[in-house]
Order: sequence, then structure tokens, then C-alpha cells
Amino acid sequence: MSFRASILTLFPGMFPGPLGDSLAGRALREGRWSLEAIDIRGFATDRHRTVDDTPFGGGAGMVLRPDVVDAALAASQDGRPTIFLTPRGRPLTQGLVRDLAAGPGAVLLCGRYEGIDQRVIEARGLIEVSIGDYVLSGGELAALVLLDACARLLPGVMGAAESAAEESFAAGGQDHLLEYPHYTRPAEWQGRAVPAVLLSGHHAEVARWRRAEAERITKERRPDLWVRHCAAAAAMDGRPVPA
Ligand code: SAH
Repeated sequence: MSFRASILTLFPGMFPGPLGDSLAGRALREGRWSLEAIDIRGFATDRHRTVDDTPFGGGAGMVLRPDVVDAALAASQDGRPTIFLTPRGRPLTQGLVRDLAAGPGAVLLCGRYEGIDQRVIEARGLIEVSIGDYVLSGGELAALVLLDACARLLPGVMGAAESAAEESFAAGGQDHLLEYPHYTRPAEWQGRAVPAVLLSGHHAEVARWRRAEAERITKERRPDLWVRHCAAAAAMDGRPVPA
């Protein structure tokens, strides 16, 4: 069974959006994964198709009603992880993306307005995920980000399998490292030369240089990742060697 994404949204017209192009779009057309956008409004029960109401306790904005969202979830939950995109959630990481991409797919709930009634989040055991410390106007772009990251890891989607293994946040002891710099022809451009080691044809030295650059860049730009990288490396060294 290939990866199936179901998106619950008030704006189904936003899908597949940019995922219809390029790698993810080709993979969609090839049936390597599938995507359905489900209109939450279709689960409203009153004549006016109301999905939201004013917040108890007062304040600005509207809140999506638990009964309507619950009905939408009931129609699509089937054992796949069910994620509510929210700035309050656990940060989306490459580790989470890898886990999701290895599974059957996901049900993604997109909030709008002030968000969703807390009770349905708890009752349905939703996994709350954030794509970063900023506030979007809705969960749709966050869902597209999450799905783009998953789609490119699906079997047969990315051209060279090894390009996934080497890039930033790749698994295998470099989980927390940013990527090394890339160069292509011409070997000299505007007086800037490509680092000589990359022209040497010496694979071990190239690998060493790339590793050192990845470490230098991570240390400089993301001390938070560097600390995690060092901790992970230490834990790996301390691991008992299998007999
Ligand atoms: N009142 C909320 C923000 C609501 S934004 C708060 O202060 O936390 C409206 C919707 O956009 C949210 O329900 C959520 O689904 C989505 N959203 C906004 N920012 C997001 C982010 N960084 N990551 C994931 N989803 C986000």
C-alpha cells in the first residue's frame, strides 16, 4: 500500500497546490502516493453550514467547533497517524518526517481562525505538530510542507537514492548536521575557485572535507544542533559493541 494523505481543511482548493508540480507531483501521477482534500464544511449540520463559533471566555476571533471537526475526523481516521498542525505542536523534524514516510500515510487537520476546540484534540488523541515558531493564517501551508518533506522520501520519488542519505539531517550519525557546500562547473567563476580537494578525485579526502565543513557550518550557524550532534555522537561511542 502506498502512502495516503487525507487533509481536513476549509480550503480544499489549496491542494495539491505546489505538490502537483515537480518531484512530488510526478510521484502523485505515478501513484506512488495519494492525496485527498476533505472539506470540513461538508460535516456541518445546520442550514448555514456553520463550522466555527465565538470563543467561550471572550476574546477576538472564532474557534472551529468540536462536533463538526470530530465528524470530519471520524470519516477519515483509519489507523494512520492523525496530526493537527498548530504552532503549539512538537517541532516538525526530519526524524518525524522519516517515521511518517515509512508508514501508511497521515490524516492532517488544518486549523483556521484562532484554532480548534481543545476537547476534540484530546478526544481524538491528535498529534500536534508545528512547522516553526511563527504564526500562519491556516494549517494548509504547514500540511503542504509536511507532505512535501514526506513525499520526496517515498520509494522511487527522488532520483538518486543517495542524495537523501547525505543531505542535512540525514540519518546515520549525522542526524543533527547541516549540509556541506556544493560546487559545479565552471571550476573557476568570477575569480572564485572550487576547493582543490573536490577536484582531487580522492574519495576519502572529499568525504573528510565534506564532513568537516558540515561540522563547521553547523557549529557556526546552529549551536543548538551542534550540542545535539555531540550528545548523539557520544551516546553512539558509548554503546556496547555487538559481539
Ligand atoms: N491562535 C493560534 C494561531 C492560530 S493560526 C495560536 O496563537 O497558536 C490558525 C491555524 O493555522 C492554526 O490552527 C494552525 O492550524 C495553523 N498554523 C499557524 N501557524 C502554524 C505553525 N507554525 N505550524 C503549524 N500550523 C500552524
